[in-house]
Amino acid sequence: MQRLIEGVHRFQQERFGQYRELFQKLSTKGQRPHTLFITCSDSRVLAELITQSRPGDLFVVKNVGNIVPPATVSGDTNSTAAAIEFAVQVLKVSDIVVCGHSQCGAVAALMAGGVSRETMPQLSRWLDLALPVRRVIEKEYPHLTGEAERLRAAEEENTLFALENLQTHPCVQARLADGSLHVHAWFFKIATAELFAYDPASKQFEPLAGVSPPKP
Ligand SMILES: [Zn+2]
Repeated sequence: MQRLIEGVHRFQQERFGQYRELFQKLSTKGQRPHTLFITCSDSRVLAELITQSRPGDLFVVKNVGNIVPPATVSGDTNSTAAAIEFAVQVLKVSDIVVCGHSQCGAVAALMAGGVSRETMPQLSRWLDLALPVRRVIEKEYPHLTGEAERLRAAEEENTLFALENLQTHPCVQARLADGSLHVHAWFFKIATAELFAYDPASKQFEPLAGVSPPKP
């Protein structure tokens, strides 16, 4: 807690000055984020840092394993589905990024057979949402025998599965159909802080470094 409070003081004293006007403007004019960014709760994956975004730029959902439950299992209290509806229908973001990452504890737990239903009932049921990923790895990647390779494939497939589930939500479908929304699967490699984007043509995650930004 000490570290957090020190950080708050440091932000107020050393950094807030450069953001004063921006926060002031955002407080009166409201937010207009361009992108809904869905990523893992992992403490090493910082959406704003790795995309150099500023306050007001990203509407961020962080959850264990960057899982997007499909619309059919949204249930009564699904915070990810709630955020998707708000970002897509009210904030009218133009893009949604689902960003998976390397060394993901949630994916590792999923591949290891899940967590204890008895002691961690919520987490266990949450990870069950990604069970199809484990089946895909077992079926499609039997040639991957090394643990690291298998986990990387699972982390990538988990990201694509989330992207697929995202597109089961009616509000997303409607805006994809009229061409006003674009969805992307990204992958963050922790050790080198590199970002990769899934290319449907090559069916691979390709480095974003070589891609020039689209013209605004
Ligand atoms: Zn993770």
